[in-house]
Amino acid sequence: MREVRVRFAPSPTGPLHIGGVRTALYNYLFARKNNGKFLLRIEDTDQTRFVPGAEDYIIEALRWSGIHFDEGVHIGGPFAPYRQSDRKEIYHQYALQLLENGTAYYAFDTPEQLEALRKEYESRKETFQYGPQTRMGLKNSLTLDESEVTALLEAGEQYVIRVKIPENEIVIVQDLIRGLVSVDSKLLDDKVLYKSDGMPTYHLANVVDDYLMKISHVIRGEEWLPSAPLHVLLYRYFGWEADMPEFAHLPLLLKPDGNGKLSKRDGDRLGFPVFPLRWTDPKTGDISSGYRESGYLPEAFINMLALLGWNPGTEQEILSMDELIGLFSIERVGKSGSKFDPEKAKWFNHHYLSELDDEKVADLLSNLLKERGIEASRTLILDVCPLIKERANLIPDLWEQSWFFFTEPQSYDDKVIQKFWKPETPALLKKIIGLLEMQQDFSTDALDAVIKGFIHDNELAMGQVMNTLRLVLVGGSFGPGVAAIISVLGKKETLNRIEKAIRSLGN
Ligand code: GLU
Repeated sequence: MREVRVRFAPSPTGPLHIGGVRTALYNYLFARKNNGKFLLRIEDTDQTRFVPGAEDYIIEALRWSGIHFDEGVHIGGPFAPYRQSDRKEIYHQYALQLLENGTAYYAFDTPEQLEALRKEYESRKETFQYGPQTRMGLKNSLTLDESEVTALLEAGEQYVIRVKIPENEIVIVQDLIRGLVSVDSKLLDDKVLYKSDGMPTYHLANVVDDYLMKISHVIRGEEWLPSAPLHVLLYRYFGWEADMPEFAHLPLLLKPDGNGKLSKRDGDRLGFPVFPLRWTDPKTGDISSGYRESGYLPEAFINMLALLGWNPGTEQEILSMDELIGLFSIERVGKSGSKFDPEKAKWFNHHYLSELDDEKVADLLSNLLKERGIEASRTLILDVCPLIKERANLIPDLWEQSWFFFTEPQSYDDKVIQKFWKPETPALLKKIIGLLEMQQDFSTDALDAVIKGFIHDNELAMGQVMNTLRLVLVGGSFGPGVAAIISVLGKKETLNRIEKAIRSLGN
């Protein structure tokens, strides 16, 4: 079998959308599974859409996601350069090759002339296409004499080189996901391949580079399926059919309600990020949130994305990158779009957070404490982690679930006070103070036994006592088990908090 070589080929026109990360991921999984190579190529031939910072963003987003490259714009490799604007000189000779073999031609029509034609067609409710039906009536090297063409070129006239689409042919694309896709060449137009400013267009650069970089499989989003027939024709026109990559067009990622494609423009409008990392628009300064900054772990983000369009053929949902590599196959990529499910994304993150070892959770929590200027010992942080990691969906939840271990409550929840603070409560709490003062073993189990024994011996109601204790320790009706809270707070802090509550809530 041919050596597997796949590429991710984004255009640096803005931040990478999560659909783009999924495309990169499937390429990566496919390469690893087949002992192949994966490369990052930057397709920046459309200078009008270039956005500063986008290339670095793409590289950083994929690095954070754990998607690694063997070759690419940031690491070099045997087929360097990997940025199309650095390969400009390469494309001209290939455009000339097609001119020479008659599968492309020069066109001199000005943008104004073409615009006028478009309008004219529109007024007749038709669509103008520069192609087999119209090209013989336009200003190009198919209609002009050779001498006229030479004169125009020598005079430095602006031109484009267009591909000559066959007049009457069914073009067939063999797609690994969709099967045979056939397109009537009537529906295709003579796309521009090269411009007199020395820049190729996407189609020419993409096909030439895939050929030169020995790409074996083109795995990309479904939005590129309409371009595939042209690409197939270009491989034929160049005489590269034997080296043509296999195509696989991935289904779209849909909005949660299934109505349309999840797009970059959705930004934060739907209440969840559509970008892997936070992005600040260099022109407007607008900020779009990212999965990383919202508190997702890359493992969860990747696991969630992997299952949006592919399945392992079993019910297994929790899959590490290594497991994904082992199980991945293009045959199991679905044909229809996958609805994005923000709740499921949280579910994955919850799972990965709860599975994280305590040292790693402690690192995350330490960062949250530092951001808030709170100093706490590593021991205290490590004591807290096992109590909260199963209670968090996103990383910032670790703080929401644990702040009361690091700072005493400033207020008490009124509803809880009304329900549980009775005239006899201060006396009860004083008894508990006495009990805890005598207690040597402050492990959760021992405290649990002592408190329950006290409740039993005094014929008290469990809920009443536990909820009151919780109220005075954390200020409301949340947090892990009461005995666990007391154990981590320790004797001194626990007694302080109980006394403070008696003072402020009184009788
Ligand atoms: N530059 C194209 C993009 O931005 C690449 C499409 C392809 O993979 O061929 O997605």
